[in-house]
Amino acid sequence: MAAKLTKLSNLTADYRARDAAHHIHAFSDMKALNAEGSRVIVRAEGSWIYDSDGNRILDGMAGLWCVNIGHGRKEIADAIQRQMADLSYYNTFFKTTHPPAIALSETLARLAPPQFNHVFYVGSGSEANDTVIRMVRHYWASLGKPGKSVIIARNNAYHGSTMGGASLGGMKSMHSQGGLPIPGIHHIAQPYWFGEGGDATPEEFGVQAARELEKAIEAIGEENIGAFIAEPIQGAGGVIIPPSTYWPEIARILKDREILLVADEVITGFGRTGNWFGSETFGIAADLMPIAKGLSSGYLPIGGVMVSDKVSDVLIGPGGEFHHGFTYGAHPVAAAAALENLRIIEDEKLVDRVRDDIGPYLQAGWKALGEHPLVGEARMTGLMGALELVPNKPSRQQKFPDTGKVGTIARDFSFKNGLVMRAVRDSLILSPPLTLSHDEADQLLAIAKTTLDDTYAEVKRLGLI
Ligand code: PMP
Repeated sequence: MAAKLTKLSNLTADYRARDAAHHIHAFSDMKALNAEGSRVIVRAEGSWIYDSDGNRILDGMAGLWCVNIGHGRKEIADAIQRQMADLSYYNTFFKTTHPPAIALSETLARLAPPQFNHVFYVGSGSEANDTVIRMVRHYWASLGKPGKSVIIARNNAYHGSTMGGASLGGMKSMHSQGGLPIPGIHHIAQPYWFGEGGDATPEEFGVQAARELEKAIEAIGEENIGAFIAEPIQGAGGVIIPPSTYWPEIARILKDREILLVADEVITGFGRTGNWFGSETFGIAADLMPIAKGLSSGYLPIGGVMVSDKVSDVLIGPGGEFHHGFTYGAHPVAAAAALENLRIIEDEKLVDRVRDDIGPYLQAGWKALGEHPLVGEARMTGLMGALELVPNKPSRQQKFPDTGKVGTIARDFSFKNGLVMRAVRDSLILSPPLTLSHDEADQLLAIAKTTLDDTYAEVKRLGLI
């Protein structure tokens, strides 16, 4: 056994050296990473990933919020193989289409909220949001209102890494690289009660944050605004679940205004919040809905923009040709993988399971972690949650110095203890596969508790508490 482990370690060292020599990772400080060495994941099955040293780790992030049906499903591999044999590639640009695109579009129209009967395909969430910018502007121009080009988005939102996606996003660190945001994007406050709610109750703060939209509309002028975009729950921003008053107040503000509502469902789509779409969980009546991730559970890259009848009536009419498209949009093999993924979600009733079974079960255990002396708030909707780490419970206004340090310490303990969680500022976030079993949920919660204990001891040792 010892000999085998040594051999595996040599393998890891070899992987790391070769990776460091040629591979620039996403969202990584490569100098620091190469000094430490990457974790090498070689295999995954169900809720578990396996590294090159033979460690088994519970995938509490479902990859990057995407592997909704769990890893390694043979049915998807088979569907991919069948489609590869029939038609491995063709596009839908020039008067052509193909069966997987037709079937997937039909399925999405059936599963999405009733106003959505059309879809425009892309390869990723970022491309979906770039498409949104162009589609919103094209829509208003087609109606003779080309001045309605401003898109209102929110601070600390995440909408992707392309020029458009990162501009819609409200991440200051992203804007600081590459001269973003592009013109015509305006950011307002986020409904982050724990971090920014001051002395207001969550309900008061929800209304307050929504009214930032009304103020922005008054300042910029409705005649200049094309759309408001928001994630139903902010994911990468730290699983920020808006107060119950937020979305109803947004609806009131937009009700009689000529402004499109875009619900970025790249994370919240396909069961994550206990409904097919987060829009249903929060009562959001969107006009456009970017989707990706859970659409194929990440087995192959595919995304789309769901287009409501209100918008498609213009696009498939006075809009004429929309000069926009991607080589890999509606890729037949990715579409076949997505179709099979949706079949699994439906047949295994994973959405109901999140709403009625594993969702409430994990939420109860997660909320109990809120009793820990390090945790200022434990929140979770469906199967996406966060633990806010604070130095001086119950105060939520006092933060740790050097934001992110304690979060990173906790994240590293979590990995070491066998659970992938992600750190955002000084919080830990979670988004496991929707197939998580009760037994796996128990293991997850036990590791999270150990991780909090380890972090608490370390934070005390460092004199941060
Ligand atoms: N929108 C949201 C809400 C996201 O969370 C993400 C990715 N985390 C994106 C868009 C971008 O998707 P992609 O990484 O597939 O480009």
